[in-house]
Amino acid sequence: AFPDLRGQRVLITGATEGIGWAAVQAFAAQGARVVFNGRRTPEDLAPRLQALRADGGDAHFIAADIRHTAETERLVAEAVAWAGGLDTLVHNAGGLVARRPLAQIDDAFFDAVTDLNARSALHATRCALPHLAASARARGCSSAVILVGSVAGHTGGGPGAGLYGAAKAWLHNLVKHCVAFHTADGLRFNLVSPGTFDTAFHADKDAAARQRVSAGIPLGRFGQPAECAPAFLFLASPAASGYITGQCIEVNGGQFMP
Ligand code: NAD
Repeated sequence: AFPDLRGQRVLITGATEGIGWAAVQAFAAQGARVVFNGRRTPEDLAPRLQALRADGGDAHFIAADIRHTAETERLVAEAVAWAGGLDTLVHNAGGLVARRPLAQIDDAFFDAVTDLNARSALHATRCALPHLAASARARGCSSAVILVGSVAGHTGGGPGAGLYGAAKAWLHNLVKHCVAFHTADGLRFNLVSPGTFDTAFHADKDAAARQRVSAGIPLGRFGQPAECAPAFLFLASPAASGYITGQCIEVNGGQFMP
């Protein structure tokens, strides 16, 4: 348990399903005030909010498409207004868009992948920064930015995922810049880098493909979204990780060992 997460104001982007949704549930169970985001409002929003509150947290949903900077600005402003400030940003939204080999990458595809994975992270961080800094000053402890990288950001990505891998590598690099220039604002910047998780991300894989991928993972299986969530809690908690910044936690079953 992370007692200092009780009442923490957390914004998690791209969090209606998969790794992000598991993180929302984990923060709520710690008693946090969680704003979660997706492009569209989930049909079952009311029961979800009820369950999160029953679990000890409070939660609010904001629909916004984080590929667009103005939407990201609105998302952060509305999140801060609802929560009364911001202590942690988890920028989780991201994805492949599609698998395309290098020969088929045109400008539209480049924009689609980099808007979703890179532009969104930069602007979410930029918009959250003054609020996170204000919270750090008021609380007397660090606020956290947690970006979601990928094993592909280290390895270059699997078939047709070269551009996605490059966009994730860009995040790994952005964190280093932020540490150099914004630690004085009271912020810590870290990444969680998932390996292969059982989410819609891998919906294109049949049983044989899943078996092949699993065989290359020392733990022998895909990760479950809930297995990624503790890394976010740890990095958000100043008591647990107050001296950790500029780092990347690899949550990948041993698939990649830097
Ligand atoms: P997912 O596809 O299951 O969920 C993605 C979430 O992002 C959804 O809630 C969706 O609504 C939201 N989203 C997508 N586009 C959005 C947009 N434009 N604006 C706002 N929200 C948007 O994905 P996941 O597998 O849980 O992945 C989460 C993160 O982890 C992503 O950044 C992904 O790149 C990364 N990742 C996943 C894996 C994996 O194996 N699943 C591996 C490495 C990295």
